[in-house]
Amino acid sequence: MIRQTIKKTSIMMLLYSVLSAPLQALNSGQQLAFLDPVWAGICLTFFLITSYLLVINTKLKKAQSILQLSEQRLKSTVEGSGDTLWDWNIATGEVVRINDKYMLHKSMSGHFIPNANRIHPQDLPLVEKLLKQHFSEKSAFFEASYRLKDNLEQYHWVLDRGKIIEKDNNLNPVRMTGTVRDISHLKSTEERLNLFAKCVESLTDAIAIYDDKFRLVDLNPSYLVLFGGNRANYVGKPFNLPGYDERYINQVITSLKETEHWQEELRLRNHKDTLLPIEVTIDEIKNSHGQVTNYVVVYSDLTERKKAESQLHNLSNRDRTTGLPNRNLFFTNLKKLAQQDTHHALLVFDLDNFKKINDSLGHQLGDSLLAKLAMRLNKLARQKDTFYRLGGDEFALVMTGTNDIHTITRTAKLFLAAIATPFKMANHELVITSSVGIVLFPEDGATPEILLKNADTAMYHAKQRGNHYLFFNDSMNEQAVKRLQIENLMRFGLKEDHFVVYYQPKMDIKTGRLVGMEALVRFITPKKGIISPGIFIPIAEETGQIIEIGEVVLDKACKDVKRWIDQGLFDGRVAVNLSAKQFSLPDLTTRIDIILQKNQLPSYFLELEITEGTIMDDPQEAISIMRSLSARGIHLAIDDFGTGYSSLAYLKQFPLNTLKVDKAFVDDMSSERGRNMVDSIVTIAHNLDLHVVAEGVEKAEQLSALEQLNCQTIQGYFYSKPLCAADFTSFLRAQKQRESHSQPKLKVVN
Ligand code: C2E
Ligand code: CA
Ligand code: CA
Repeated sequence: MIRQTIKKTSIMMLLYSVLSAPLQALNSGQQLAFLDPVWAGICLTFFLITSYLLVINTKLKKAQSILQLSEQRLKSTVEGSGDTLWDWNIATGEVVRINDKYMLHKSMSGHFIPNANRIHPQDLPLVEKLLKQHFSEKSAFFEASYRLKDNLEQYHWVLDRGKIIEKDNNLNPVRMTGTVRDISHLKSTEERLNLFAKCVESLTDAIAIYDDKFRLVDLNPSYLVLFGGNRANYVGKPFNLPGYDERYINQVITSLKETEHWQEELRLRNHKDTLLPIEVTIDEIKNSHGQVTNYVVVYSDLTERKKAESQLHNLSNRDRTTGLPNRNLFFTNLKKLAQQDTHHALLVFDLDNFKKINDSLGHQLGDSLLAKLAMRLNKLARQKDTFYRLGGDEFALVMTGTNDIHTITRTAKLFLAAIATPFKMANHELVITSSVGIVLFPEDGATPEILLKNADTAMYHAKQRGNHYLFFNDSMNEQAVKRLQIENLMRFGLKEDHFVVYYQPKMDIKTGRLVGMEALVRFITPKKGIISPGIFIPIAEETGQIIEIGEVVLDKACKDVKRWIDQGLFDGRVAVNLSAKQFSLPDLTTRIDIILQKNQLPSYFLELEITEGTIMDDPQEAISIMRSLSARGIHLAIDDFGTGYSSLAYLKQFPLNTLKVDKAFVDDMSSERGRNMVDSIVTIAHNLDLHVVAEGVEKAEQLSALEQLNCQTIQGYFYSKPLCAADFTSFLRAQKQRESHSQPKLKVVN
């Protein structure tokens, strides 16, 4: 079209130049010799034609400049776009290019695709395929992205798009036009994105992406490895942390919104329901307007790291020879205990003459002896205590949460005995002894260093005695010594029959008559006189001697009562105290049966007093023991009621007969509060159909107050102190006499 227009314009211009001479002559005012009508007609025609041509010429010039302008515009638009325009004459293979950035016109190619030699060999097959698809009308456009080499031998990623615009009569494509766009920068962005996606895919950390409403949008394969299931199980589901409740999740979200970042080490449940240490990191993702569009949650499994850390920790905190925690850890842990202000005892052991063993048998044997000893002693430590090797032949035991002298000395003795037990090694029987220094926190030092120094001092003194323990604090030593003396005295006393039984009457408040009595043990030593049960019973409980003492008391009480029954002085029940240690003996009932049988005393005459604390230790177990006792006709009393924490629910289930109100409540009866307390106890007892005994009644006021509260039975100095068997016989006789004077004769009930 443009070409045709250019041709017409050329003819017009030729005509104009031929005819323009006469016109110019006319214009210059030359006289024309042939000015006749014909000539005038010719001239007019010529003038008209010329004018017409002039008009045409002006228009043409205008069109030409418009054309040039639009060509210019098109060119600059194409240049501005950066694209290369091409017009391919398929038949001739000729290509016209505008804005040819790659200087493709310089290259020749034997291929049917122009410049095929410039297309990356890996991409060419695809370009061919796509072009053929378009030629065979399988695609409306040709569109291919490939690498194209420029004249400097540099590849560029391009997007080539085109369309057939002309076909011949056989419908073969003859012309095609299109554009080539450089997309190198897009490609590199895409490659980066692909790279990032691949990284995320291959990361061992689990990653989940949530939308702004905390619904899961996407996750990586590691997420499924950690939490199990498949993608569909999670997509669209709200954010959660397996093992944590909704309240916690809401807290996390709230804090995240405040700080834009959240990180915490949690214990999350994996797909096997195992709790794993996992560091969870959550970050916000914002768009260009600063609005949060997504949240990225990263879960890093710390299991391996923790393992490595603990191995490292072990290396620096464990002793290699014995496997025990070392001096380093000793100080760390002791510092913690001091900071927490927890009562604890430190026992420092030093082996006596261990150097001799090392020197005579060699270090290797010495080391394996230490390892064996460590294993033996470590087993003896209570669960909450830790046994350390401080170095060489020095060990330490830290007992947490105690400053109880009984517990500590018992442990010290247990360890000393274990150390002194011979070791069989390499055909030798090795005997080692040790000395122990004991300190208490906070009494004997505020810091681990001072405590250790003082324990060492105590240990040094203990060493002088050999295979011994010693407290740093002298009053503790005195107590420990006393305790040891009593323990030895009891051992001796059991052999020599120094335990006797006293009896304290229980009186009916209304009739003033005897209804029963409590057997109370007395320890009468030849040298130290009577030792109070308040002192020796707790030690006997600790050492286990209470079992033997308890049986002596029961045996003696049965014998005495049997005699009084046979003498017609008594037909009530004798109450014997049963300690916690006895109560938990598996063969308790058999032991009691044997003693009753031996003394030929029917079980009807026996009552057992068990403290509230003993029963509540393991109520279920207590119920079954008590049932088997009750089934024999033995009565059961709960002693020192109100001092423990009995649950009323349990109280109903115990096969009880009597409830003993503790002396402390009776003492407190002068106040209204105290009276109300006893009132409540008596009411509870009556509601449970239990007999009530008030202990420790010393005054007449207490007696009358108890009477008003409907308490039937009284025990206390008001009537009588505990009496030895001979004195109690007299008491019974006096009772008997009083009864025979008063008519009608009342039967003793209990
Ligand atoms: P318990 O079982 O509560 O015994 C009552 C204690 O109160 C007895 O002390 C008794 O002498 C004392 N007592 C009685 N009336 C009065 C009073 O009016 N005023 C005062 N101040 N005290 C009174 P005892 O005999 O020293 O026994 C103390 C604790 O030793 C007993 O408390 C009991 O828990 C235990 N016990 C005594 N004998 C035995 C026994 O044979 N076996 C066991 N396992 N423990 C025993
Ligand atoms: Ca008692
Ligand atoms: Ca009591």
